[in-house]
Amino acid sequence: VSGASVAGPVLAYWLARYGFEVTVVERAPELRKTGGHAVDLFEPAMEISQRMGVLPAIEELATGTETMTVLREGVARPVSINVGRIFRSSIRRHVEIMRDDLSELYFDAGRDQVEYLFDNSITAIGDDGEVSFEHAPPRRFDIVVGADGLHSNVRRLVFGPESEFSTFIGGHLAVLSVPKDMAEDGVIHAHLGPGRMAAVYTARKLDDARVIFLFRTDTELDYHHRDVPRQRELLREAFAGQHQRVDRFLAELDDTPAFYFDSITQLRLDTWSRGRVTLVGDAGYCPGPAVGGSTSLAVVGAYVLAGELAEAGGDHRRAFPAYERDMADMVLRSRSFAVGAAKRLVPGSRAGTWALANVGRLLGVLPAGVIRKVMKTGNSIGQVHAAMPVRDYMPSSK
Ligand SMILES: Cc1cc2nc3c(=O)[nH]c(=O)nc-3n(C[C@H](O)[C@H](O)[C@H](O)COP(=O)(O)OP(=O)(O)OC[C@H]3O[C@@H](n4cnc5c(N)ncnc54)[C@H](O)[C@@H]3O)c2cc1C
Repeated sequence: VSGASVAGPVLAYWLARYGFEVTVVERAPELRKTGGHAVDLFEPAMEISQRMGVLPAIEELATGTETMTVLREGVARPVSINVGRIFRSSIRRHVEIMRDDLSELYFDAGRDQVEYLFDNSITAIGDDGEVSFEHAPPRRFDIVVGADGLHSNVRRLVFGPESEFSTFIGGHLAVLSVPKDMAEDGVIHAHLGPGRMAAVYTARKLDDARVIFLFRTDTELDYHHRDVPRQRELLREAFAGQHQRVDRFLAELDDTPAFYFDSITQLRLDTWSRGRVTLVGDAGYCPGPAVGGSTSLAVVGAYVLAGELAEAGGDHRRAFPAYERDMADMVLRSRSFAVGAAKRLVPGSRAGTWALANVGRLLGVLPAGVIRKVMKTGNSIGQVHAAMPVRDYMPSSK
């Protein structure tokens, strides 16, 4: 398994539980602990986490975000949205947690049964399962799984360049770490203008705060993924003059210990498997970071893949098509939700920003039954995911 973030450790855990021998190779020198952002787990992913015995710890580390304030450009008074209540009223189960905390919990759950190789990466995969590594001698494996994220190395080696599968869905996003006192526990403060949003939040157990920037562009911006100075410049240009507070976030850009910048792209592969290689999580079917519930999708995908492999006695020729069939509906629905969400989250017009802020405010004060009805028509990602049943693959799945 290549990648030890969310999909990788969940897959490794379940494979080991079913009796497979598993090796996970991770490019980072250790489990990432400084980057990351708040991610969501919906019903099926929570059920799987419960079966792994980590749900109480996940709930313990939940970010605890209850309120979102939205300050629109050119408007003096912010609107306050009761996001906690909207979530609780519209979906049965949901938790928000920092991705790195989640990753550590999944890693800890399986670490004693799984071999982890950090600071390493796959350089070649032969048809016979021979895998070459950057810093280790080649070894042979029955099955190779790319769980190495949106810019997957395994996918590139086996399926070809990313550009063949990725579709730009209308925006860019950035995350940076800022001092904790720039945010408030339990509250996301968002600054919203036509085509751009900057939001700052922290969590009880975080030592810092995170700012997430989302902005719309008609086409993908021109930058190299390793050219951080250029990315910072693009971010400054996109948010110039939005608000004094946003200027203060931008002033942290040169000192921040963690910075992330990417376009919002969606992966569309007809199949995620070739020979004895398959893909899981963002590597295979990222609907778009931050817009399509991709963390939950990664957890469910990993569980389903392990289950199908167990049922097929390790025969990938039977397991991989079954895995793709089981996941197809959830992937397609997440994809189509994400395309709409990328636009809805950051409206292009002033009227759109007004509507977003005020519909949100209204939703937060409506009776729970009405919220449920409204969200159902809007088809929230939590409801899309809740439609995915968690199958029992083996007696030991429960
Ligand atoms: C800014 C941002 C905001 C987001 N917000 C949300 C949100 O609100 N809600 C939500 O559900 N999701 C959100 N996401 C998405 C979420 O982070 C991912 O969907 C989730 O982490 C996917 O998990 P994964 O394990 O498939 O991939 P990743 O988390 O991307 O992990 C891939 C792993 O592979 C490793 N790796 C990479 N290359 C190699 C290599 N060559 N060899 C070995 N290892 C390698 C990486 O170091 C990493 O550990 C957001 C993502 C971003 C970037």
